[in-house]
Amino acid sequence: MSTPSIPFTASPSWPLPPGMRATRATRALGALYQAQPQATLSVPEVAVALDAAGVQVNRVTVYRLLDRFAAAGLLQRQIDGARVTRFALATQGYDGAAPRFECGGCHRQFRLAQGSARMQAALRPLLRTLAQAGHENLAVDIAVHGLCAGCAHPEGAA
Ligand SMILES: [Zn+2]
Repeated sequence: MSTPSIPFTASPSWPLPPGMRATRATRALGALYQAQPQATLSVPEVAVALDAAGVQVNRVTVYRLLDRFAAAGLLQRQIDGARVTRFALATQGYDGAAPRFECGGCHRQFRLAQGSARMQAALRPLLRTLAQAGHENLAVDIAVHGLCAGCAHPEGAA
């Protein structure tokens, strides 16, 4: 997997939600997302990955952990086509509204870095209008649905 330059991962330490102390679980979570900055992970997937990193936490704890990171704006909550809640790295505010592509076959999600700057620029007037109307905590979630190359061409035919 190619590693795109995401400003978030350039920071040497994984930021923590205010009031949260660094634990083995938060460090393992940070390492997990820094290794896969484009991952959108479900609670069971994170639980399995933390377990593999030697941190045993139950799913309720994993959910609470992810929920706190999401509440602090460090992770972004997404619901995939199978109604599974997934968490992806968030960037700052609506500037980080990276569009994503979700495959309806395998439910994998791909974050689309290309073109996102232009899309964000296009959304800015809309968000400004909403903010001026008094709406707060605006978040943009752009999802493209389709079939990924692997599902569309399972034989590998070009
Ligand atoms: Zn697919």
